[in-house]
Amino acid sequence: MGDLLTVKGIGKVIEGKLSNIGINNCLDLIRAFPQRYETHRIATYGEAELSKEIVLSATIVKNASVAYIRRKLTKMTFVANIAQHEVSVAIYNREFLRSSMIKGAEVVITGRFEYDFKRFMATDLQLKKNYQEGIIPIYNVYNFSDKVFAKIVEGAYLLVKDQLIDDIPKALLEKRQIIMIADFYRIVHHPLTQTDITNASLRIKYDELLKFALKIVCMKSINEQIITRAKTYDISQVRHFIASLPFELTDDQKTVTNEIFRDLKKPRQMMRLLQGDVGSGKTIVAIIAAFAVVSGDEQVVVMAPTEILAHQHFETFTKLLSPYGVNIAFLSSLVNERDKSQIRNELETGTINIIIGTHALIQDQIHFHRLGLVIIDEQHRFGVRQRKALREKGWTPDVLLMSATPIPRTLAISFFGDMDVSSIRSMPEGRKKIITTVNDYSHYKEVLEHCVIELKKGHQVYIIVPLISENSKIEFAAVDTVLYELRQIIPTDFPIAALHGKMTGEEKNKILSAFSHHKIAVLVATTIVEVGVDVPNATEMIILDCERFGLSQLHQLRGRVGRGGNQAYCHLLTDSILIGTNRFAILETTTDGFAISEEDLRQRGPGEIFGEEQTGIPKFRMANLIIDQSLVEQAFEDARTLLTSSDPLSQELVAKTFFGIKEPNLD
Ligand code: ADP
Ligand code: MG
Repeated sequence: MGDLLTVKGIGKVIEGKLSNIGINNCLDLIRAFPQRYETHRIATYGEAELSKEIVLSATIVKNASVAYIRRKLTKMTFVANIAQHEVSVAIYNREFLRSSMIKGAEVVITGRFEYDFKRFMATDLQLKKNYQEGIIPIYNVYNFSDKVFAKIVEGAYLLVKDQLIDDIPKALLEKRQIIMIADFYRIVHHPLTQTDITNASLRIKYDELLKFALKIVCMKSINEQIITRAKTYDISQVRHFIASLPFELTDDQKTVTNEIFRDLKKPRQMMRLLQGDVGSGKTIVAIIAAFAVVSGDEQVVVMAPTEILAHQHFETFTKLLSPYGVNIAFLSSLVNERDKSQIRNELETGTINIIIGTHALIQDQIHFHRLGLVIIDEQHRFGVRQRKALREKGWTPDVLLMSATPIPRTLAISFFGDMDVSSIRSMPEGRKKIITTVNDYSHYKEVLEHCVIELKKGHQVYIIVPLISENSKIEFAAVDTVLYELRQIIPTDFPIAALHGKMTGEEKNKILSAFSHHKIAVLVATTIVEVGVDVPNATEMIILDCERFGLSQLHQLRGRVGRGGNQAYCHLLTDSILIGTNRFAILETTTDGFAISEEDLRQRGPGEIFGEEQTGIPKFRMANLIIDQSLVEQAFEDARTLLTSSDPLSQELVAKTFFGIKEPNLD
């Protein structure tokens, strides 16, 4: 919209400079918002305080003189009159202004009174006729002064202002007291008051959040149209199974189990996220759901992010379900071809009830007799792409995702708005809090000595390091260095072993199995143990260079200890300088994963935690899902209104959103 050359003040040269920064028309130009605003105001003499910055207007009484102090340092001084007070003003490195600092000149000085009110040390100096009072937009655009840029933006705005049409229905804007688009463009570049600034920023945020919310609400409406078989299951068998568990389900477990069963019974595809802290008992809920589906003679797929975790699920599922005659198989890249083809066969005939493997399972060439449920562990998001992959195979199973990074309800609607969310908040009874400390490396030895105490009690220890091997450029603790150090301190009767991602699957399994059978006392590992590894006898974890990890990840990691009845410990070590910021403090005071993830989101933002692609959350220019929580909720409410609204503008916006979803995401 709008040829740039028609704007007053834009010629070929400026047009070229604008095009270099991706501004090709008037609309682009008015969409280049200021980065911030500065408020310029000339104060009165009476407001002045010693040593406090102030902006004053002054009249020069005696021509300025310049002293050359040394190379690249000059000092200009002049006597000025400020509200009938004679003051000596000094400023460094402004000798180029000397010719205009002559008797009678009116200037604006920014700086501080020193010693007494007779001397003023200035940091800025301008002729009064050049000084702009009011709220000044700061654009910081490459190759442009703010003044010039503001001028051409204004020119562009005047040309296109009558063509600026809102794509958000007026009724919604009025309801939320959000300004119209034409007003927005006027005040965002030229606010007169702080209220203008607030209104402009609110419009940007609301606009961003509404469009984001609409996308999610549209995606959900697509999912809700997927028809699938309503599951039938043998309720008495399921009840019997639950009653036979060695513990009673917690209230939260009962609630989420009911939510899942309600979905299973419906003839539409379940897309449910089950979130709860590590150890909150999600797995057992998944097992109950799987058992129900199998009792209705349908098959179940269980997928985990790593071989280790997949294998652990295989063991847990087998232990609990094989007594009921459920046939469970494990499929991984390590299984030989002959066994693989037998498994494929038995899946196709329906002999196998549950197949467990890594996330790659979904890509495998397998056919099911009757697939009813897919359970996916530790994946935050099951994207449009994966759903499409399922559909292309002709599968429309119910889908249950499990996440151990629980997030507060208001964030869950943003992240997983296109799914239903079930949360387990309370932990099974009898869990002891993990005692957590954060220290610098001067405590390394002391922490290791504490480990030896635990080892002597017959317990086991994890030591987590960020890297696999020492790299001269990056000094993060590395497995091999740490192994060497430990062997100096830990008595030889406690075997130490390493576990990291560069090992083959077979090697990893061997080490883990040795650790879980207590053949290894100390496991030095990378974050590979982050998810799922379950060794109840491990009571202590040391995390080296903890600044390398996010809060949620650290919380996940420490969830590997304290899985038995004994008191567990987690020691975080970092460089002393980083202790100062103590962004880890929350880990010392709470073990509530919901609170920790909220703090983590505040510190790092969702993209960092879940991965940009995983969240599908755009990078907002202004909106912040944590800071603007109530606006987020309003946007979702309004998005749902839009979806069912019959007015043409709403429908146009919805149609555009649907189109946007189908285009880029379903390649
Ligand atoms: P998650 O998958 O959420 O990390 P798990 O399902 O692995 O947690 O549960 C952790 C441990 O707690 C397991 O050993 C499990 O048997 C046990 N557990 C689960 N639910 C209960 C319960 N209601 N009461 C006691 N122990 C439980
Ligand atoms: Mg789990």
